[in-house]
Amino acid sequence: MAMEFLKNLFYKTDGTTLTVTSNNGFHLRPVAQFVSVAKKYPCKITASFEGTTVDAKGVNTLLALSLEKGSRFKLTCQGKQAKEALEVLRHTFTSLMQEDKEIKAIQKEQSHYKGAFIEGDIISSGIAIAPVYHYKETRVQKKSELTFEEAVHQSIDELEILYTTQAQNSDANIYLAQKELLASLKAKASTLHGLEVLIKDASSELSGGKLKAKISDYKDILQRVKKHLGLEVEAHFPDKPFILLANDLFPSQIEQLSQTDVAGVILKETSINSHTAILLRGAGIPSLIADTSLFDTERSVILDAHSSVVVTDPTRADMEKARKRLEKDNEQKALASEKRFKPAVTQKGRDIKVMANVTDIDSVKISKEEGAQGIGLLRTEFLFKEEKPSFERQTRTYEEIFSHFDDITVRTLDVGGDKALPYLQLPKESNPFLGIRGIRLFQSHPEIMAEQLHAIFAAAGNKTIKIMFPMVSSVEEFHEAKTFAKELAKKHQLDISQILFGIMIEVPSVLFLIESFNEVVDFYSIGTNDLGQYLFAIERTHPTLKVDEASPVLFNVIGTIVKKATKPVSICGELAANKKAIATLINLGIETLSVSPKSIAQTKEEIRHV
Ligand code: PEP
Ligand code: MG
Repeated sequence: MAMEFLKNLFYKTDGTTLTVTSNNGFHLRPVAQFVSVAKKYPCKITASFEGTTVDAKGVNTLLALSLEKGSRFKLTCQGKQAKEALEVLRHTFTSLMQEDKEIKAIQKEQSHYKGAFIEGDIISSGIAIAPVYHYKETRVQKKSELTFEEAVHQSIDELEILYTTQAQNSDANIYLAQKELLASLKAKASTLHGLEVLIKDASSELSGGKLKAKISDYKDILQRVKKHLGLEVEAHFPDKPFILLANDLFPSQIEQLSQTDVAGVILKETSINSHTAILLRGAGIPSLIADTSLFDTERSVILDAHSSVVVTDPTRADMEKARKRLEKDNEQKALASEKRFKPAVTQKGRDIKVMANVTDIDSVKISKEEGAQGIGLLRTEFLFKEEKPSFERQTRTYEEIFSHFDDITVRTLDVGGDKALPYLQLPKESNPFLGIRGIRLFQSHPEIMAEQLHAIFAAAGNKTIKIMFPMVSSVEEFHEAKTFAKELAKKHQLDISQILFGIMIEVPSVLFLIESFNEVVDFYSIGTNDLGQYLFAIERTHPTLKVDEASPVLFNVIGTIVKKATKPVSICGELAANKKAIATLINLGIETLSVSPKSIAQTKEEIRHV
């Protein structure tokens, strides 16, 4: 035993040599994913390159090696679980390199403008015609009781929440990267000044190199910590359309920017693969990288992010040409948006229902505006995130939500796995995705589930509401939860005869039980996010592994469910909004898709072409 312990302690692998094969180099996002795996091991892990050896569990230490395509570095592990760590990290690194697709420059179209123009690089294609607005911000001092250490912790927690709540979105890795970066800076700075010095040094080391784009991540992190210390930066934007001119923006500013009337963005100091650029593309804002110091105007310009030019002095004919192109771009979007309240009928005349996945009252209102035909999934665990709501508050919230649509599916609390609530204690589990979550809360937290169901029943009155249980794996589980609900209604003398009860299909065991479930449930909804996770044994938040959404296995499974089910089947996982999957899902017999509010119009338009 003691020998084993000592062997483990001093175990040192010979190490392995790894070669950076991605054209982007070993940059922040893969580094953060690599570090999050490395940190799971107790052993010491180092990386050596050109005579410098650094801690491979630190994002900034690894980044400081400036590993570019072709760089060969040595990875060494020493101590407990060293052998396993080396093996896993070697695999992780290889798959990170394979997955890290080069962000290719968007092909430029030829430009035919007559007026003076400057050229740039395309971040996000599209056209904008609007007055130029030069970025302005003010610094505000607010009250904060937090110490530096607490501010850092809150920033890390915030980034963790941003990462986990957007895990379906590939841009979410940006938050993981920033979280890991801050976590590794934390060890070296105990004051705000210390952190500022560290970031200044790191930025000047990166400037001019291939990893220059990461400087805005460093600055963004610093700003987040400062915000928790009361030192906020407030950006000001006009309330009419504008083309924003700035040196650079923080990734965290893109969300605010996309809520404004911004028509386009021109940045001087970013690169097409920076996090700011990725988020601008995600938000669909026409954007270019161009030398903003070459023109100083507040007049209207043409930002043509197809031809990659800014026409700073457009002629009348230039304006006409740009407007025509803009109209063409907008037509397609508008077509989908205009028809958003119309039914989604396929070419063969099948009327497919498009519902919304919602998390709160705001998203319910947005989904109504976007043309949703009902709520296919109300994720109730996001409704009351901070503190345990009273029965009255829950009832009021459900009442308001229920007033917006006739067809509503409410999912009971789906806590556990990657979702936590501060007031609901769950045991520490080594595999939380296989532990207490979803319907299993009826066993572990009956009082919370009773209160939630009671509030739903009270808010429903005599309206038909569909109640859906998540993570069901056996008929008995469903039966127990439904009996629980019925007894609860009886206790409160409530008539729930109009309430329908169904299940999410997320656990593979259900696939073998459909005939039995047909006898007891009123409906099914396929949760492809979790079903994919459990079918392929790939954790949905895994930093490097991803379920292949195009896998025929997933479609075969869905086809089998539709064939065997005698009750209505819908899909509410991310697959339902996947452009490439919609036709197949409909051809398999799916009649209802439930998608995020911003995907509704586009999903409907996609269906019309099937
Ligand atoms: C799913 O698992 O596909 C699903 C819709 O539920 P969630 O993403 O909330 O787990
Ligand atoms: Mg799920």
